[in-house]
Amino acid sequence: MDLTFPPEAESFCAEIRAFLEATLPPGFRGPGTMDRAEAEAFSITWRRTLFEHGYIAVTWPKEYGGRGLTKLDQVVLAQEMARAAVPLGRVADTTSVKLLGNTLVRWGTEAQKRRYLPRIISGDDVWVQGYSETEAGSDLASLNLRADIDGDHIILNGQKIWTSRGLDGTGIFVLARTDRAAAKHRGITFLLCPIDTPGLEVRGIKTLTGEVDFCEVFFTLPTFACPSRTWSER
Ligand SMILES: Cc1cc2nc3c(=O)[nH]c(=O)nc-3n(C[C@H](O)[C@H](O)[C@H](O)COP(=O)(O)OP(=O)(O)OC[C@H]3O[C@@H](n4cnc5c(N)ncnc54)[C@H](O)[C@@H]3O)c2cc1C
Repeated sequence: MDLTFPPEAESFCAEIRAFLEATLPPGFRGPGTMDRAEAEAFSITWRRTLFEHGYIAVTWPKEYGGRGLTKLDQVVLAQEMARAAVPLGRVADTTSVKLLGNTLVRWGTEAQKRRYLPRIISGDDVWVQGYSETEAGSDLASLNLRADIDGDHIILNGQKIWTSRGLDGTGIFVLARTDRAAAKHRGITFLLCPIDTPGLEVRGIKTLTGEVDFCEVFFTLPTFACPSRTWSER
């Protein structure tokens, strides 16, 4: 199998190599060789540097803050970053850029793309994933977080768990049950909830190693403004 890149990948590859050479000190061995606090500080600075040089979400359209590059360019970027022992973003970008951002690029409305994507790329917004529940892990059809419409608002009631980097999030995307009469694998809606909404509380879970990364998220009737009137309009 020939794993060399085609000629059209060369100019972007050269750009990235020049960036890495100008940015990283000679002999840099990556955050894997640092202690935890040093690696965390590096990750924050490095993420900002990537954003300032246009290396976050390079395939997203330019009008939403991306560079409109190809999937091949994304692969080249990943390879060159790995070669230099540096990450493509922070850990929370796995949920923020990859899970939510890419979903919005594909499925979001124009208004959602303009509102959310640039702030995800800049890192001003960090979205965490709220799927798992105490009684619904792999089996998401068992989820119980309830969402009801009340006039111009959505009200949530229930709990999520195992939310990675929950304490770093500015928002949580959740799957919530919106039609209790429907079959259990239907009647589920994907909602975006700002973390600072009153009634939404994030509590860290301390693991055996003493670290707090996973969280529980409690929804005690937080209320989200929403102008449309039915789930299908939202
Ligand atoms: C590194 C990491 C990060 C994570 N981050 C997040 C996060 O940010 N947000 C989030 O929402 N979740 C997250 N999760 C997922 C969450 O932590 C749980 O691992 C996941 O929800 C599985 O739930 P569980 O552990 O209760 O296992 P269970 O769902 O109880 O599954 C246990 C076993 O039963 C099987 N099983 C489950 N349901 C059925 C069924 N109906 N029929 C037959 N077999 C079944 C499963 O295949 C599995 O073998 C993360 C997981 C990992 C590993």
